This record gives sequence, C-alpha cells and structure tokens, in this order.
Amino acid sequence: MRRLPIYFLIDVSESMVGEPIEQVQNGIATIIKELRTDPYALETVYISIIVFAGKAKEIVHLTELYNFYPPKIPIGGGTSIGTALNFLMDNLDRSIKKTTLDEKGDWKPIIFLFTDGNPTDRYEYSFDRWNNKYRNSTNLVAVTLGQGTDTNILKRITDNVLQLKNTDSESFKAFFKWITASIKTSSISVSEMHTDDLKLAPIDEDFLNKIEQEMNQQIIDDNYAVMLGKCQNTHRPYLMKYRSNKGSGSYSEYNINKSYNLVGAYPIDETYFELSDIYQTGQTVNTAELTGFPTCPCCGNQYGFSVCKCRNIMCVGNEEMSKCPWCNSEAQFGFAEGDSDIGRTRG
Ligand SMILES: [Zn+2]
Ligand SMILES: [Zn+2]
Repeated sequence: MRRLPIYFLIDVSESMVGEPIEQVQNGIATIIKELRTDPYALETVYISIIVFAGKAKEIVHLTELYNFYPPKIPIGGGTSIGTALNFLMDNLDRSIKKTTLDEKGDWKPIIFLFTDGNPTDRYEYSFDRWNNKYRNSTNLVAVTLGQGTDTNILKRITDNVLQLKNTDSESFKAFFKWITASIKTSSISVSEMHTDDLKLAPIDEDFLNKIEQEMNQQIIDDNYAVMLGKCQNTHRPYLMKYRSNKGSGSYSEYNINKSYNLVGAYPIDETYFELSDIYQTGQTVNTAELTGFPTCPCCGNQYGFSVCKCRNIMCVGNEEMSKCPWCNSEAQFGFAEGDSDIGRTRG
C-alpha cells in the first residue's frame, strides 16, 4: 500500500499561547477523529506533526491513523521559518519512501504549514534549498492564522498560500473542516485516480482567502507582547500575553505610544526552553505601556508580574521574603511607583 503522508508544520511561537493553540490542538483531534471514519483515508493517510518556534521538533512521527494519538502542542519562543523548513526537509529525506525500479514509493506528501507570525530568522538559504529540491516533490499549503502575517514571504515557497481571516473559534472550526475535506479528497484521488496532484476542498471565502499573487500588503497590526515569568512556588514557567491596541478605535489616533492590554497568563512547560532559540531578546516593553497585571497562573499568587533585580519576572504573594526562581536571590518586594522596562520575548 502506498502511503499518503500528511505533515502538519505548526508555528508554536508565543503569540499562539492561550486560545489559538487550544484551537489548533482541538482541530488536530477533530481531523483525526473524522478521518478515522473514512475508508480511503484509513487506507492511505499517515500523519506527522512538527512544531516550530525558534527551533523545530517532531512531536509525532509519520503514523497511520488508527495508531495516532493527538499530542499536546507545546509553546516556544521565536518564529524561525527557515529552521522549520530545514528540519522538515531533513525529515522528508529520512521518512519518505522513494519510488525505485522494484517498488512504488509514497505519494507526494502534503504539508500544511500554519503560522501566525513573521520570520525572526534568516530563511534565504532554506528557501533556496526548498525551491531547488523539495518544492516539486511535495504539495505545500501555507496558511496564515489571522491577518498579521506577511503572505509575500510564504508566496516564495508555494503557490498555495491561504489566509484564515479571523482566529475566533468558529473560523478555526470551519478551517479544520476544510483541511479534513481536503485530506479526504486527496486520499480518494490517490486511491481511485492514482494521481497525487493537489486536490484541495472548495474554499469558503467567508473565512478563508486564497492569496493569488504577491500583494502590496497592509498588514493589520495584531501585534502581541509576550512576557515570560516563572512561578516562585512551583518553578513552572508561564507566559503573560498582551495585545497591542494600536489601530483599534479612534482613541488610538491620539495615543502615539503603543499600549498593550492583558489577554491572559498561561502556564507552559519546560519544552518552551527546548523550542526557543533565545528567549531573552533585548526587546523591551515599558510597564507603563501595559494595562492589566495577572495573578500567577501556576500557584495563584497575587502578583504574577514582579521583577527581580536579575530582571526576570516571577510571581510574588504575601510571603515576607520571596525567593527568585531564576537567580535564587532572596528579597522583599515592595510594589510601587516608577516604570520599568521588561524583557520581551519575540514570538
Ligand atoms: Zn506562582
Ligand atoms: Zn532573580
């Protein structure tokens, strides 16, 4: 049986923390559940999941549907599309069976790349490598989640660039339905027609845009500031996510400085450090620009946003003496005046 390999290459940079990553997580689970009831898909489809932030990681190796368990999707720092593409190409070299004189190999792999950000790495070399050797032997579908991504960059590696217009749960549901339908169509096409030309399901323009050509883009600034903290009690890392309110409403016309509103605080796990290239980027955001300070999402301490003299963020409660989970120094915290600049991750 010839396999139809499906790869999900998922951007898990910090701006994905919270609802978007949950949507992706649920979306993958739904796709698998749906495909398992489809006889064509069951026969041919193999799925692999690779996540990337500053670094890339394979979290599920190419697996047949009945053995596939939807994994937990982690979060990391940075958006290294070049690194991700290189990682994918190495993986394709190892995992895809080539057609030989004696044996037919796998069908053309279909790769769904999801990203919500713009690259933070140098991607030219990997783009060249991709276009020279891999572009024609795969079907890459690049999807930007929301309107904050430069689609022209993605146009350089595939003709199939789509934009999910909104990132509310309804849009995500419709989107994953469309992916499921596309995979089903493709598996019928290889089984019945013996062709692996890309067959995507029809696009519902209410939620998905097909990007036809390089656009003179106006990117809507759906910009996030994401700060990394560590819990004093559990030593677990967490992310605090703020959304820029620039460009929303007339108020911002008078507001020259950017400001950010709290979206939420989310515990993450140690995978974060594995997937991040550097999590201290030197980019800073002034606390005066931030509105809303969270409690610690790990232990419930009242102040999730306290800055140690080592400049890292930790949680502080009612204790007399606090111990910094980053540098181990002990200190008494006062909460008072003055703005301070806080290191910002670069999701
Ligand atoms: Zn805590
Ligand atoms: Zn410290």
